[in-house]
Amino acid sequence: MRTIGLIGGMSWESSAEYYRLLNELTRERLGGHHCAPSVMVTVDFAEIEAMQRADDWDAAGARLVEAAVSLERAGAELVVLCTNTMHRVADRITAAVDVPFVDIVDATAAKVRAAGVQTVGLLGTRFTMEGAFYRDRMREHGIEVVVPAEADRALVHEVIYRELTRGQVRDVSRREFSRIIAELAARGAGGVILGCTEITLLVGQDDSPVRLFDSTRLHVERAFEVSQATGTLAAL
Ligand code: GLU
Repeated sequence: MRTIGLIGGMSWESSAEYYRLLNELTRERLGGHHCAPSVMVTVDFAEIEAMQRADDWDAAGARLVEAAVSLERAGAELVVLCTNTMHRVADRITAAVDVPFVDIVDATAAKVRAAGVQTVGLLGTRFTMEGAFYRDRMREHGIEVVVPAEADRALVHEVIYRELTRGQVRDVSRREFSRIIAELAARGAGGVILGCTEITLLVGQDDSPVRLFDSTRLHVERAFEVSQATGTLAAL
């Protein structure tokens, strides 16, 4: 099994989830005492969040490139960026390392397609819901993305930054997310992507009338598959 490099800290609440899911999946698939060989670099989310707010994606990208390069030096044979939002700078990371970069949007899109869903709802930070990077990549996979209306995008964004990335999980927010998901379904979404790696801490399939695509879990599953691949990784 190849050593998995994780860029964590955005937020650590979700990085902990990645670590748990990855090792649970490895035990489930390989049995016995198997766990996933991995290394993690944790960035300080306060720094990244300030750069996001200042619209300084160059600086944030540089910080994550640094993290990716240090993972490679530490023996990582693939790189996993444990956040959707920062995939905005995925191209820079891919270009900076020699090992494969496991893209969260591609991993999610593959499952959405396999489920036969062509129009999918998306919940995430404002950067993810409104930026072109996510929507365009989904379109390359033949998937159309619908997002909540402005007021609900603001609500989802606020819950992520004020609650979930600070370790707070509140029933009142779960009910709001559930309502927003139902509205996306009523507007034609055949499924909804939990496109922020903390949302899985708040809502689950029981909160939705349509299938949910949990980006955290799907990213972990893809990372596990890549770590298991033998021979050249060119085709991955
Ligand atoms: N973990 C979140 C995501 O998946 C948000 C935190 C961040 O801005 O990186 O987008």
